[in-house]
Amino acid sequence: MAIDLLIKNGVVITMDPDRRVLENCDVAIHDGKILEIAPHLEMEAEKTLDAGGCVVCPGLINGHSHVYQSMIEGLGYDMHFNPWNWRFLIPVVSKITPDNAQAGASLAALEMIRNGVTTISDHWYLHTDMENIYRVTEIFDQSGMRAQMVFGFLDETFAGVQRDADDMTMIQSQDLLINEARRFHDTWHGKKRTTVALGPGSTEDISESLMLKLVALSKELDINVSTHVAGWIEINSYTIRHFGERDLEHFNSLGLTGPRGVMFHAVWLSDREIEIMAKTGTKVVHCPVANAYLGYGISPISHMLSRGITIGLGTDGAASYTYDMLEVARTAGMLQKASKLDAEAVTAEQLFEMLTIGGAKVLGIDKEVGSLEKGKRADVIVVDFKQPHLLPVGRWLPKLVYSARGSDVIHTIVDGKVLMESRKVISMDEEKVMAQVMESREDLITRAGKETRDLLNMPWPKDGPAWRWLVDR
Ligand SMILES: [Zn+2]
Repeated sequence: MAIDLLIKNGVVITMDPDRRVLENCDVAIHDGKILEIAPHLEMEAEKTLDAGGCVVCPGLINGHSHVYQSMIEGLGYDMHFNPWNWRFLIPVVSKITPDNAQAGASLAALEMIRNGVTTISDHWYLHTDMENIYRVTEIFDQSGMRAQMVFGFLDETFAGVQRDADDMTMIQSQDLLINEARRFHDTWHGKKRTTVALGPGSTEDISESLMLKLVALSKELDINVSTHVAGWIEINSYTIRHFGERDLEHFNSLGLTGPRGVMFHAVWLSDREIEIMAKTGTKVVHCPVANAYLGYGISPISHMLSRGITIGLGTDGAASYTYDMLEVARTAGMLQKASKLDAEAVTAEQLFEMLTIGGAKVLGIDKEVGSLEKGKRADVIVVDFKQPHLLPVGRWLPKLVYSARGSDVIHTIVDGKVLMESRKVISMDEEKVMAQVMESREDLITRAGKETRDLLNMPWPKDGPAWRWLVDR
């Protein structure tokens, strides 16, 4: 009997417990799983991909994103988060419809598949319509990706903007949100390649009583509870003022730390807070590009790694301007090395662990994916090294981390299914997705109003950032 798929003659970076790198090696895939990893496999296969001169490795994991922001990239740039959020983001995002949500998710899925990202964790809190998150999840499912959908909660503010302000359609009552989270969990958790987690926004966005209910719900459902922690310096002052504790300390007091606790950003942590995370087995998703772009700072991941904390990498939202996770990993490395004046502050191997097995551990799916091992689900990418910027190789892993780009990924495979072959996405109609996105974005900007449109028509700035023209005119 023929097996489903055979990848021949690649350099296989397994990320297995022994971290084996096997040259001239084949990977046999059947029924969605890895059947065998060995040289010269003599097997008949329905489909064979030649990986000569290529690296074959686990699919990349994007541990934190807000894919709706694919629709707003370029709307306001070179801005701090707060003016961007309250003045320019809210008029747009408060009007997102299920059609807009679907378009943004399609575009993000397309871009991720083209960059070798096989698992996405999306934090979706924009419940302007309760159908939004269902449409997004269906798109990831149809695209063939693996997804952890983080059902978001906003019951008090959206990044500090009160619920009684105009247009705050994304802020809902506790009871409604909890009932909807249960319904979403029952519909999607464990269905095919999708899992569900709970995602309170931040200490600012969520009431303490809702936080406590979410800790209890995550225990009841045995799922992750994932939140933004100490991403920007001001949030620590807010949390200290209101609760007498720093951000992570407060999450610890509420019970959000532990093996099921996932902290996004984790930039402004004290040594004591890093110790709390290490002791409780709390996990981190580091978003270096978004943190740097917004002027948030640099997360102390070298320190966290030295304390054994499990870290994954994420893009976060539009502030990354990319879904290329190789770029995100490279930036993570450069920021640690430059800021600590230490070339050894983080290694290529550690960065690739965060992209693969580390990210899988953060999402609680490491028994299934994150490494290439017999019996695991077959989430595999093939990276073409037969290119000037990738030759000569020297050692494969550092070349992959420091020189390769998402666009060097030629085949993307999830659950044994080929989603992209020779740079052509098979699971989605690329032309159709891009046409729909342009139409949907035009609709969204029109409904958001004149000031949003003006953001796209700003003149070349005489000095300083372009957006200030809107304020100064
Ligand atoms: Zn985020």
